[in-house]
Amino acid sequence: MSKVLGIIGGGQLGMMIAEAAKKMPNHISKIIVLDPVKNCPASQVGAEQIVADFKDKNAIIELAKKSDIITYEIESGDSDVLKLVENDTVINPSPETLKIIQDKFLQKSFLLQNHIPVAPFIQVDSISDLEQGLKKFGYPSLLKARRDAYDGRGNFKINSIKEIKNAFDYFKGEKMMLEKFIPFKMEVSVIAARNTKGQIKTFPLVENIHEDNILRETIAPARVSKKVANLAEEIAKTTMNVLKGSGIFGIEMFVTQNDQIIINEIAPRVHNSGHHTLQSSEISQFDQHLRAILGLDLGNTSIIYPTIMCNILGPKNFEGEYKPIEMTGPNLFLKMYGKKISKPLRKLGHFNLVGKSGETIEQLLITLETLKGKLNVNPV
Ligand code: ATP
Ligand code: MG
Repeated sequence: MSKVLGIIGGGQLGMMIAEAAKKMPNHISKIIVLDPVKNCPASQVGAEQIVADFKDKNAIIELAKKSDIITYEIESGDSDVLKLVENDTVINPSPETLKIIQDKFLQKSFLLQNHIPVAPFIQVDSISDLEQGLKKFGYPSLLKARRDAYDGRGNFKINSIKEIKNAFDYFKGEKMMLEKFIPFKMEVSVIAARNTKGQIKTFPLVENIHEDNILRETIAPARVSKKVANLAEEIAKTTMNVLKGSGIFGIEMFVTQNDQIIINEIAPRVHNSGHHTLQSSEISQFDQHLRAILGLDLGNTSIIYPTIMCNILGPKNFEGEYKPIEMTGPNLFLKMYGKKISKPLRKLGHFNLVGKSGETIEQLLITLETLKGKLNVNPV
């Protein structure tokens, strides 16, 4: 009863799902990924690849015909096409959920309707909508592309009236929304899973440090009070109860200055802030995702070792081939994604620094500083 698993997207997340799948030969016999980049990261760890755009209808149909079960590592697949092929294969999370989540405006409207706290927002179809919104929310505010954004590339922070036109032109031709800026105390996230039988489990709250809108580090567990951790978990569970579909969901949140929790966005997939689970926990988010979509019992989500995950990003001023990254150290786990070319701020890999010898987060943070000084991505 071993199944063929299809994954839309074969980047690092697809790669780590494929690696987890290979450890379950009794459940998954073969992995096929759909990705536009030849020799994508997932294909380097044994997944077969269909080389095509994520939205390519014929390619999605081909993937559905070849797979018993489809999942995704990115949210930009064509949800309407996925809906069409639902008769040929099982898709998790459901295309319906994907459709809501992949449009930030629909996603936030959905959360709001379900009384889940989000930053105030409005739809922006014209420059006058934008001006109206800014009058309401003040400065700074964030103009966001509604779809296909990642690593903050779909955000424009408007600091003053002078920037309105530039911001609007930046997203010209795309659907947009405006969001009030939240001067948060901390960014946190919950990695939650639901299996096809309806069982829900969440990993403990983690703390995320962003720079230039990109995740740099995740601290697991988050340095927050029990009260904040419980509130975040409660909001994550409420969110899971209203969202349909099985699999992992990455729920990004802000902790406000007065310790309220606001959801920033949800990813219907494994999430960068869950990479710590590869070493910190009994079960990784990738194993958990597969267990969820296969209808197996979900694994234990406790964090056994405090861990810091640090992303390895391409330097800002360089594009091209780079020398292999070598990093060793006690309880340091390096994972490179097999991307040949570095691009500015491209995610090339990550490492986990794991408190296996009883280190606290504070001690791990000190070690991290010394490691960061040695971490260089150099041209070949
Ligand atoms: P990802 O990095 O998760 O791929 P993305 O490109 O879809 O994300 P968002 O998550 O919407 O973008 O925003 C990226 C970052 O910008 C957030 O992690 C946060 O640091 C900042 N940000 C987003 N919305 C707000 C807001 N309303 N107020 C303050 N900061 C915000
Ligand atoms: Mg985000």
